[in-house]
Amino acid sequence: MNQLRLNPLTGRWATVATGRASRPGQFAIDHGHPADPGTDSCPFCPGHEEETPPALETYGTDGRWLLRVVPNRYPAFSGAGELTVEHLGPLFAKAPATGIHEVLVLTPEHRHSWADLDDRQVGLVMAALRDRLEDHAGTTGIRYSQAIVNHGRAAGASVRHPHAQLLGIPFVPGELLEELAGFGRFEGGCLLCATVAAERDAGHRIVLDTERAVAIAPWWSGSPFELLVVPTDHDGHLHRASPASLVAVGRAVRDVLARLRGLLGDVSYHVVLHTLPHRSADAFHWHAHVVPRIHSTGGFELGTGVPINIVAPEDAAAVLSG
Ligand SMILES: [Zn+2]
Ligand SMILES: [Zn+2]
Ligand SMILES: [Zn+2]
Repeated sequence: MNQLRLNPLTGRWATVATGRASRPGQFAIDHGHPADPGTDSCPFCPGHEEETPPALETYGTDGRWLLRVVPNRYPAFSGAGELTVEHLGPLFAKAPATGIHEVLVLTPEHRHSWADLDDRQVGLVMAALRDRLEDHAGTTGIRYSQAIVNHGRAAGASVRHPHAQLLGIPFVPGELLEELAGFGRFEGGCLLCATVAAERDAGHRIVLDTERAVAIAPWWSGSPFELLVVPTDHDGHLHRASPASLVAVGRAVRDVLARLRGLLGDVSYHVVLHTLPHRSADAFHWHAHVVPRIHSTGGFELGTGVPINIVAPEDAAAVLSG
């Protein structure tokens, strides 16, 4: 089992998952796509179902699947149990990296990405995320679940076939704790409901505005063309949102990814979904971050946590909203 190790300088956990590094090409970073073996040897293509562990969920009709959820073959988190911290002296704290690590094969279409999904398929993706998050929420020991899409090699993708990952982990991670603290500090109601209202008033950072979802280039953008997709209905937990709200966010993510591709080409990106930790009633509003990986992080950013963004969000919104 992998190990969690606490960084006493920051109070944040790191996962030591050595089994994953043995994969060839793991340390090669460039801006292309993972080597594409083609549909004949892709473990996520139809006809290759035996090459993945048995599916946790399958969506589709007429014996033909449209979306599969399978356990990750190289799980960063695995096994049941609450976070059990062991202290080896005053500095070295560790815990077993228990949890769930699964893969959502987003479509049978090998060469598509989220940007290419039709409305029905987007609906299936969001329904599958909701179903799995509901399952995680009912699983003892899982405190938080992180859904991600890594597209392109610079974003860490190792398989070309479009897929998302969902990791259920036994603690609330530092990034979420910081966002939760932000919601707690804000005195004007819900921080993201207020952001949607303020950006609708301002207008010039809105990339896409539908009735139930808004995509904005946030005021505080730390990297070029970073986007925030917010449902206009207030829900803390993604899995408690209405089907209409889920579908609206899924479509907005698709549409901004298509616009980014139209503007920048098929660049690497991350989609990161933030939802309230399980069984928490804190102030929060679920949302998605879409972050193109088109610049490399410098030492100043690493040393300070202060990003230097060379594209103002207003300029990003101007070219993306056209
Ligand atoms: Zn494939
Ligand atoms: Zn809200
Ligand atoms: Zn967030």
